[in-house]
Amino acid sequence: MTVSIHPSVDNGIKPAAENFAGGTLVCKCTQNPVKVKIGAQTAHNHACGCTKCWKPDGALFSVVAVVSRDAVSVVENGDKLKIVDPSATIQRHACTGCGVHMYGRIENKNHPFYGLDFVHTELSPESGWAAPGFAAFVSSIIESGARPENMGAVRARLRELGLEPYDCLSPPLMDAIATHIAKASGVLKD
Ligand SMILES: [Zn+2]
Ligand SMILES: [Zn+2]
Repeated sequence: MTVSIHPSVDNGIKPAAENFAGGTLVCKCTQNPVKVKIGAQTAHNHACGCTKCWKPDGALFSVVAVVSRDAVSVVENGDKLKIVDPSATIQRHACTGCGVHMYGRIENKNHPFYGLDFVHTELSPESGWAAPGFAAFVSSIIESGARPENMGAVRARLRELGLEPYDCLSPPLMDAIATHIAKASGVLKD
């Protein structure tokens, strides 16, 4: 059985281009698509199995990266955007025409990832974006309907692609969150 993870990784992962400086995300609407300019290379790109991220039809995982919110600007048809769930930590600005999430933003200034927007660079015609480096929230794909008995095959395929599977975020990101919390509580002084 071949496990399909996501169309942008199923045939192998393309490496990032040196000195890549960004591009423009375009939603799936055939008329008046929303366009969002990303003025920088992304970081921490990864496959995500959570139930909240946007993923293309039929994909088991989303592929999502972060970039400084200062680098993100809506350049066309922004009136079509609506926040999927205003009470969620990550406010996902989705196109009301096609449903694609154009960017996710954290407005809570105390959140460890405040200042970073979440984006799906597969929406951009440019190539050279940061390559995905791991898989997060892998077990959560079951919540979207994946068969529990296939999880061994899913994790094996992720490893084969070089996307180490984790059931939370990667260790560096989990460490960054814990460090932020420890500094905020005063446990960590420097
Ligand atoms: Zn659209
Ligand atoms: Zn996710």
